[in-house]
Amino acid sequence: MTMAKVTEGVHFIEGQDEFIPDSHVYVVGDLSSCDLSVVDAGLMGKGAYKIRSIQEMGIDLKDIKRIIMTHTHLDHVGCLAEILQEIPWAEIWIHRLEAELMEKGDERTVYGMDMFREMCQIQYALKPGAFTFQVNRKLEGGESLNIGGMVWEVIHIPGHSMGSIGLYHGPQRVLIPGDVIYADYAIGRFDLHGADASELKKSLMRLAELEVDILLPGHNRIVRDLPPGYILETAKQWEPNLA
Ligand SMILES: [Zn+2]
Ligand SMILES: [Zn+2]
Repeated sequence: MTMAKVTEGVHFIEGQDEFIPDSHVYVVGDLSSCDLSVVDAGLMGKGAYKIRSIQEMGIDLKDIKRIIMTHTHLDHVGCLAEILQEIPWAEIWIHRLEAELMEKGDERTVYGMDMFREMCQIQYALKPGAFTFQVNRKLEGGESLNIGGMVWEVIHIPGHSMGSIGLYHGPQRVLIPGDVIYADYAIGRFDLHGADASELKKSLMRLAELEVDILLPGHNRIVRDLPPGYILETAKQWEPNLA
């Protein structure tokens, strides 16, 4: 089984890293609600794996109503088109700051840096404009999303990218922070296009206000029993680098 239940209404599909990492995918929503959301997509070529993993759970693809992106880096958005081909009815929800870039075909955030863009376009035969999407809902942060029989709060946490969001489920103390914070006191890089170290510091402090037991980052291991104060401790350890 490639997809695992984390807790009620939260399922996990582990990324399959290549020489570029592949982001994890989370499926959120009560399975009986028929109103499921996929959080993030993954790297180019991983769409079939992600779709197959969802189907192996016995989920009817028709129940997937939307794809919510934590942010639009290549390792998260790379197979969005592949997934949309299988579920063309799914809406795309992205923070406004990155949604506006995607709609214009501005791919600076997708690739992060010019050298990486050139390498990837050759390696994967990607054409300029390959990541132009129409976004159905532009998120701002501060929304309470009533989806799949659950309420998820959207938190705008820029710094790793300008439109990074976290999704927080208060009742079960679950946080999906994208690439802003990981397990093992690691944080997302802050040297790519649209990144900002001081914004990242503020975003970590914002997340530190939340009660989190289950941390579900975009990469590496997930944590089901996060120690109290973990996010604040991580922010403090990184503070000298985020001035
Ligand atoms: Zn990222
Ligand atoms: Zn990532």
